[in-house]
Amino acid sequence: MADQTVVTRFAPSPSGALHVGGARTALFNWAYARRHGGRFILRMEDTDRARSSVEAARGILADLRWLGLDWDEGPPLPPSWEQALREEFDPFGSPRGEGGPYFQSRRKDAAVYEPFVERLRDAGVAYDDDGAVRFKMPGTDVTVEDAILGEVTVAAADLEDFVIVKSDGYPTYHLAVVVDDALMGVTHVIRGQEHLNNVPKHAALQDALEIERPTFAHIPLIFNADGSKMSKRDKAKAARAAALDACPDAKNRDALVDRVVEMGPAEPVMSTAVRGFLEKDNDGIQIARAIASVLDVALPEIEVDDFRASGYLPEALVNYTALLGWSPGGHIEKFEPDAMSYLREHFGLEGVNKSNARFDREKLFRFNADVIAAMSTDDFVARFREHCRRYGPKAFGAMSNAKPDQFRALAEAYQPRARTLAEPSALGQFFVVDAEEIEFDEKAVRKVLHKNDCEGLDVLEQLRPILDGVEDWSDEVTEATVKEFATANALGMGKVAQPLRVAVSGGTVSPSIGQTLAILGKAATVERIDRCVSVCRAPTG
Ligand code: GLU
Repeated sequence: MADQTVVTRFAPSPSGALHVGGARTALFNWAYARRHGGRFILRMEDTDRARSSVEAARGILADLRWLGLDWDEGPPLPPSWEQALREEFDPFGSPRGEGGPYFQSRRKDAAVYEPFVERLRDAGVAYDDDGAVRFKMPGTDVTVEDAILGEVTVAAADLEDFVIVKSDGYPTYHLAVVVDDALMGVTHVIRGQEHLNNVPKHAALQDALEIERPTFAHIPLIFNADGSKMSKRDKAKAARAAALDACPDAKNRDALVDRVVEMGPAEPVMSTAVRGFLEKDNDGIQIARAIASVLDVALPEIEVDDFRASGYLPEALVNYTALLGWSPGGHIEKFEPDAMSYLREHFGLEGVNKSNARFDREKLFRFNADVIAAMSTDDFVARFREHCRRYGPKAFGAMSNAKPDQFRALAEAYQPRARTLAEPSALGQFFVVDAEEIEFDEKAVRKVLHKNDCEGLDVLEQLRPILDGVEDWSDEVTEATVKEFATANALGMGKVAQPLRVAVSGGTVSPSIGQTLAILGKAATVERIDRCVSVCRAPTG
């Protein structure tokens, strides 16, 4: 269905990280353009000088690339998502496409908007107002046809004149979006329903400038399971709720505030700010993170980078977000061969719902687990390595550099049970700590080591010299050694493997015993057995 005339755009304001809803808007615009053989433009709407930053622009470019999106026109395409975040990458550098600049601040510098303001003045529909310029609404009802919502009419009485040029000389979003969509030949404006209110303004400006209206398509909002709008403030909300839950009375709240201040997150956090946060005076994200870390609670993922840090894969996130408000029909949920290929072939506005979408975290989690399960070992190892290097824990990043074989064995052992890229390092924390840091789980010690006259500890003592004598320390050999010992002593495998697990990990959950010991290495295994026996033999009070 080649339709050269289709031009879509994603027009984020670089004032913060890319929200998952923004990612979906970008995805739908990209898919619509690709499906119709048209063009997809990326434009940075940075006319709010106080809130825009080049770091945010970099972050958005990185997130779009991480998701697998490319654009035909816009800021330069970074070769990889990580490169977008590096100093040497210049988002203002040579753009893609001929219709630039693609940052509205640069377009303002190039006097792109002035002639349009002049035209409006000449037509008598723009007037000065205290240093700003205002557009005069026509005084009639405005009706727009929306490709998703149908006819939308706003009564004249509800429409007021509005600012098109601010007193700092910058165009407002309303003027810039109308002018740029026209100059860039945008045919389809696909964006979130939060912009529906703006449509009468844009339509009136388009009419006054004699610009043909694009097709408007407003996609549904994304809500949390509890019916609230999914917003970046949810992170602050969650941290606050956890804090008040942990410290219901003011006394221990003081202690919490002290600990958060002590944590010293990236920016200095003063106790008044932390108190203000708890009183809902501010939603500071640094404070929310510090509280989450002190209380060891997870904050909900809202922005693309949150999902990446939590170990979600772009394939899963793209597949899942595409279903937020869009249905391909026929109950298809998992896209083949992959979500991006499927969308470029099948995405259409006719499948977009009018009503709000619900963000189902469980479903995304399942999608992610399925992507991990279907991945080749090599791919998983590589992605897990990248994840550890970027997001930690540091010890795993170090292990991936210093002991690549051990790291690979660990990744392989965890792939079948991992649902995110963050899980193997969380579950396998015991592999990278010093023997002294292993804390023995009380229940495990009782059940596995002390029961039946310390049967488990006896097993450990007998196994120790046998394991110490193993030459070829591979998972097959260690596994076979443990098995042989079990058979020779007429014990079930569990009676041998579980004490070993407790000795080396502190608990009863780890990959197969052969894999566990192989990853750990002989010296550490023997050291941990010794320590376990000496700690757990000690008479308990
Ligand atoms: N810059 C606007 C935003 O980030 C989007 C404008 C539009 O798509 O028309 O919300």
